[in-house]
Amino acid sequence: MISFSLDEEQQIIQETVRKFAAEWVRPQLREWERAGTVSDEARRAFHELGLGLLEVPEALGGAGASAVTAALVQEELGFGDAGAAVALWSPHLVTAALVELGDEAQARRFFSRFAESSVRLGAVAYSERGTTPLEGFSTVAVKRGDGYSLSGTKAFVVNGGCADLTVVFAQIEPGRGWGGVGAWVVEAGMPGMRAGARHELLGLDAAHIAEVVFDGCLVPEENRLRGGPHGLPKGVQRYFARAALMTAARQVGLARAAYEFALGYTQERRAFGKPVAHFQAIAFTLAEMLMDVEAARWMVWRAAASQKLDEVALAATHANEAAWRVADQAVQLLGGAGYVQDYPVEKWLRDTKALALTAPTDQLSQLAVASAELGHALDGGWPSSTIQPMVT
Ligand SMILES: Cc1cc2nc3c(=O)[nH]c(=O)nc-3n(C[C@H](O)[C@H](O)[C@H](O)COP(=O)(O)OP(=O)(O)OC[C@H]3O[C@@H](n4cnc5c(N)ncnc54)[C@H](O)[C@@H]3O)c2cc1C
Repeated sequence: MISFSLDEEQQIIQETVRKFAAEWVRPQLREWERAGTVSDEARRAFHELGLGLLEVPEALGGAGASAVTAALVQEELGFGDAGAAVALWSPHLVTAALVELGDEAQARRFFSRFAESSVRLGAVAYSERGTTPLEGFSTVAVKRGDGYSLSGTKAFVVNGGCADLTVVFAQIEPGRGWGGVGAWVVEAGMPGMRAGARHELLGLDAAHIAEVVFDGCLVPEENRLRGGPHGLPKGVQRYFARAALMTAARQVGLARAAYEFALGYTQERRAFGKPVAHFQAIAFTLAEMLMDVEAARWMVWRAAASQKLDEVALAATHANEAAWRVADQAVQLLGGAGYVQDYPVEKWLRDTKALALTAPTDQLSQLAVASAELGHALDGGWPSSTIQPMVT
């Protein structure tokens, strides 16, 4: 039975976050972009919505919400501002990693921190400038007594160097690629971890994205994440599938924002005695934009409901491309007004590009789509890139 209806709880959550985005996020879009962060008041207000441990299973103290519900939240936040969506969702980066990569004791120990405080930040650090994460890392972990010593520099990390908890991937067995990778939770204040340079960005400025440096950072054995019952590569695959889905949902929200703005603007703006929206070329463009938004949303919902990796990859690829098209068309339909900062449309074009570059990138999602169709893993897909359901 196929249903495109939301249940009552989902409708309430959707409405709640829509209101939050309208009241807290959209009005501060430029201020947060300039400040390079969202305000602590907004973090507290978001925390009070009770969405802190949304996707964490109930047995582990979370709300146990479905991926569809999480996607609804992301669409609304993305509609408000994609940069704020990334910043406000940061604890979920770590909770999602712990759900997929940690064991129950680790989950309980670390989740409580995000449950109790509204301004705690999370980070997941894998990218590096010198290596591609698909092949392994130059950041290394060496066994030292009861724990590990981590050394290396991570780049492009949301909340890099300022998070309360940072999940770090490092090479424990050099030369074995993903077979030799380990993951650890580094807690703020552990000696040997420090903030590196903050990156200047094309978009998503409200999210703090920076390098984080490990210089003999000692991490105890109990902070090592072993990937749950299916091992680390499978857990990582599931983690990135979740991340791709949430990014896709944000792209839907961003695209909806751009479409609605262009729809309103072109009905106000007049040429030759009528609104420009009444010229067929403009009207058709609006129709194409709406098709992109709707199709992207349905694909995200389907993938969230099925949790199948090939459907996640398809939804992610489509959402990235659709949002880029819609934001580009919105700039075009506004003419000069689309290119100036008096309106948010130019920002959406910059932000959608940044979202498409977060892991897994658009190309890697396409690679997964092609792998599914061809029936075998292609070179350079995410570790263990055979197509598996996310839920086993
Ligand atoms: C807004 C933003 C937020 C981010 N947040 C984080 C974060 O929190 N933590 C973190 O660790 N990193 C983060 N990143 C980094 C991001 O995950 C990486 O940039 C991304 O994974 C690509 O890795 P790379 O930059 O090393 O590109 P490379 O691996 O060098 O790839 C270069 C290009 O080649 C493509 N490519 C690579 N391999 C293949 C292949 N096999 N087939 C086809 N194309 C391929 C890539 O898609 C890309 O276009 C963020 C980036 C951005 C823009």
